[in-house]
Amino acid sequence: MEFDQFTIKQLHEGLVKKEFSSTELTSDFLNRIREKDKAIHAFLSLNSEEAIGQAEKVDEMISQGEKIDVLSGIPCAVKDNILVENLPATAGSKILENYIAPYDATAIKKLKEKKSIFLGKTNLDEFAMGSSTENSAFGPTKNPVDLNRVPGGSSGGSAAAVKAGMCAFALGSDTGGSIRQPASFCGVVGLKPTYGAVSRYGLMAMASSLDQIGPITKTVEDAEIVFDAMAGYDLLDSTSVKFPIPDLRFKIQGLRIGIPKEYFQKGLDPKVDEAIKKAIKQFEDLGASIEEISLPHTSDALASYYLIMPSEVSANLARYDGIKYGLSKEGDDLISVYLNTRKEGLGQEVRRRVMLGAYALSAGYYDAFYLKAQKVRALIKQDFEKAFSKVDLLLTPTSPQTAFKFGEKTADPLAMYLADIYTVPVNLAGLPAISIPVEPVGGLPIGLQIIGRWFEEKLILKAAQELK
Ligand code: GLN
Repeated sequence: MEFDQFTIKQLHEGLVKKEFSSTELTSDFLNRIREKDKAIHAFLSLNSEEAIGQAEKVDEMISQGEKIDVLSGIPCAVKDNILVENLPATAGSKILENYIAPYDATAIKKLKEKKSIFLGKTNLDEFAMGSSTENSAFGPTKNPVDLNRVPGGSSGGSAAAVKAGMCAFALGSDTGGSIRQPASFCGVVGLKPTYGAVSRYGLMAMASSLDQIGPITKTVEDAEIVFDAMAGYDLLDSTSVKFPIPDLRFKIQGLRIGIPKEYFQKGLDPKVDEAIKKAIKQFEDLGASIEEISLPHTSDALASYYLIMPSEVSANLARYDGIKYGLSKEGDDLISVYLNTRKEGLGQEVRRRVMLGAYALSAGYYDAFYLKAQKVRALIKQDFEKAFSKVDLLLTPTSPQTAFKFGEKTADPLAMYLADIYTVPVNLAGLPAISIPVEPVGGLPIGLQIIGRWFEEKLILKAAQELK
């Protein structure tokens, strides 16, 4: 049997009804990886033997008549910057090429409690910095929809693995769009939770005030299942929240939806514009009330993000010094060990951001750059607060364009940064947002972004379900 098109729910029902076993479906996914991943390169490492062992245990439970969770025996893939005990965790970097995770991230621990199956680790832009996976030290991932195009990034491996049917679901991380933008480019669903909803413990820190772990799935229903399993307070993450995500009442009739006019200006591909407008119309036809709103500081979001993010990157990545973790190069003294290790171990984009961040934080420049960027961040958050006093949800394109070709933006970092224009404001404000595929115009997948109030994931998910 082929399980590539099955949702989590369908796989679960099949397992419970004993139509197939977890071992069978795990083998099927592993076979598909062997067959397809040479061309796609979504995976950096596989966990085949252990995965089969995990599946056998679930099959044993089922044969004993034990009740199983909806995620039990369901095979997933994990972005390689999230720690899974005893598996490699390279973050797509040479500096961690041989690094093995010593413990489980909290999100992984929770999925292990549900008895999900871990097939392997997926490719990403080095330390999650990028929008195409072209910054991976181990070579890019191809978009399964068109192998000449990027899958988006930085969670490109996870999005491609889901799209190509090489896993039932995958985990990504999102600091400025890295779950939503690849989901949009590959035609799958990606949810970036509210900052604090899912523990960051065991996620390699890129920019700690922005990072979140979230699911990449085939359907909205699946995204909800995985989100529910991972969300919750964690003592090991001081920024995680202490209350459960509320299950909100939902009715599409009368739901107030805002369309931020700043997201529909020049730079937006007309095909994306058309597809998103059609989706908005669908919501209107379903009974939602649509109104144009303004988020006036949108044009400052990228500048603010590209100061705050590198500042945090420069501090977070100081730990990769050749002493504590991974690669270590010799040198005559301690400082040359640091320099030689980082020169050899870190790629160009990572070094660029470390330098930009160190500059923005340095004496004399701190007020002009970092502090100013934080003030702009507060204004962006206020824009959203004002908008959400009038409307319940916001609809925007996830990305101004569809998946681009390899090499198209690698020569110009700024062109690459512009790919994040619709996703970074959400991270700066700490809001939840989902990207769901809409009916494409022009062949390539297009993602609709639905943004909700803080901790109102359930409203986003319910609205997303309406668009079938
Ligand atoms: N593409 C964005 C960047 O390069 C977002 C990365 C992310 O969300 N991890 O920073």
